[in-house]
Amino acid sequence: MNVKSYYTMNKSIIVVGLSAASMAFITKMRSFDQSSSIIAFSAEKDFPYNRCFLADFLTGKSDLSNIELKPQDFFEKNNIVVHLNSRVDRIDSKQQQIFVGHKSYNYDNLFLGIGTRPLIPESLKNCKADGLFTFHTLQDMQSILKFIKNRQPRAAVVIGAGLNGIEAASSLYSQGIPVALIEAQDSILPGQIDQKSGYWVENIVRRHGVMIIKNHKVIEVCHKNGLVHGVRLETHSKVRCDMVIIAAGSQLNSELLDHTDIQLQNGSIIVNENMQTSVPNILAGGDICVVPDIISKQLTRSTTWPDAMLQGLCAATTLSLNPRKYPGLIGLRNSHFFGKDFYACGVTNGQFDYLRQACLQTDDALNVLFTQNEILKGFILIGDISSLSELKNIYLSK
Ligand SMILES: Cc1cc2nc3c(=O)[nH]c(=O)nc-3n(C[C@H](O)[C@H](O)[C@H](O)COP(=O)(O)OP(=O)(O)OC[C@H]3O[C@@H](n4cnc5c(N)ncnc54)[C@H](O)[C@@H]3O)c2cc1C
Repeated sequence: MNVKSYYTMNKSIIVVGLSAASMAFITKMRSFDQSSSIIAFSAEKDFPYNRCFLADFLTGKSDLSNIELKPQDFFEKNNIVVHLNSRVDRIDSKQQQIFVGHKSYNYDNLFLGIGTRPLIPESLKNCKADGLFTFHTLQDMQSILKFIKNRQPRAAVVIGAGLNGIEAASSLYSQGIPVALIEAQDSILPGQIDQKSGYWVENIVRRHGVMIIKNHKVIEVCHKNGLVHGVRLETHSKVRCDMVIIAAGSQLNSELLDHTDIQLQNGSIIVNENMQTSVPNILAGGDICVVPDIISKQLTRSTTWPDAMLQGLCAATTLSLNPRKYPGLIGLRNSHFFGKDFYACGVTNGQFDYLRQACLQTDDALNVLFTQNEILKGFILIGDISSLSELKNIYLSK
């Protein structure tokens, strides 16, 4: 039996979430199966776009056509029904049904690419004011752009100095808005890179006139008549600003998995190498999953765009006659801020007692290797990324 005849089965496939993992799933599915029905639901109002380029969209370097994952007629041409602005409320895995509002849909196979949403610190959760934003979706960027155009803010605060926070600060800086970057921990990019490398990045950020406030938590966004006028720190001092971006991390969209038989680890879906959940006709991929790290084999949260895409692709092949096993998470984090490319791979946060060797350190570039018994455990490249493919190959060849 060839692939084509196998797929005269006319399955009903439902996809929840429409980002990196789901788009890779759908695209791969349609490459070998034109007969099954595919219905996709996205809680967002926009057609799928690449989140990695949102900062470029904010600065005007990319427009909508550059960041859209597919032209809108892709869905019609490929007979894929898309429901935007449609949150799936519940899954009944026994009856093989999902529920959206009052409607229910039956499936033979379900793919979950439901990812994450911004994490809002508890103390800021109930705050609503003009000038307060998150930094996660195209809608966020459009709201920020509209605000900048209409209100011309004189100063901004970014809460959180992770990759998204630094990208946000960089985008605002490039639009001439003075920025203060506030971080609860004692170095920036905590969790991503070690403290010494963090200090090096701090210098780059400060050189661009961005104020960095470390070791401080924001406990309140101050507003009057619905307009932001500052943030209050734990020490009760106030930082004045008329715009605040919360970039304090992300949280899993795992509520949908409540009351299902899908096995979880701390809210993340556990999948096998075919990207099947513990309910075999439900597949999953992307940031909602924990998958084995390609080197350590430890179950690790997926957090990058390329990992999500590969998981979606492998999940689709599980429904074909030629399944492709997911090889494991590479976890190559990348970003671009203050004119510098950033890559980090492997264990780079100083968590273990690896040998840290800064093999290139100038005012503009930093290359750091982390080795143990002469084995490359991780690397950080900023500013000069010319050795990226060589290091990636060495890292993966272990
Ligand atoms: C600002 C930003 C910049 C980034 N930059 C990079 C980068 O440069 N490089 C990189 O590798 N990674 C980057 N990432 C991370 C990368 O975007 C994620 O790893 C990737 O988007 C994960 O894709 P995903 O398919 O898991 O789903 P997500 O992108 O998390 O999307 C999940 C989608 O599912 C929807 N959804 C959730 N629940 C439901 C429901 N019940 N019903 C319907 N829809 C639902 C959500 O609304 C969302 O649209 C960035 C992330 C952000 C936020």
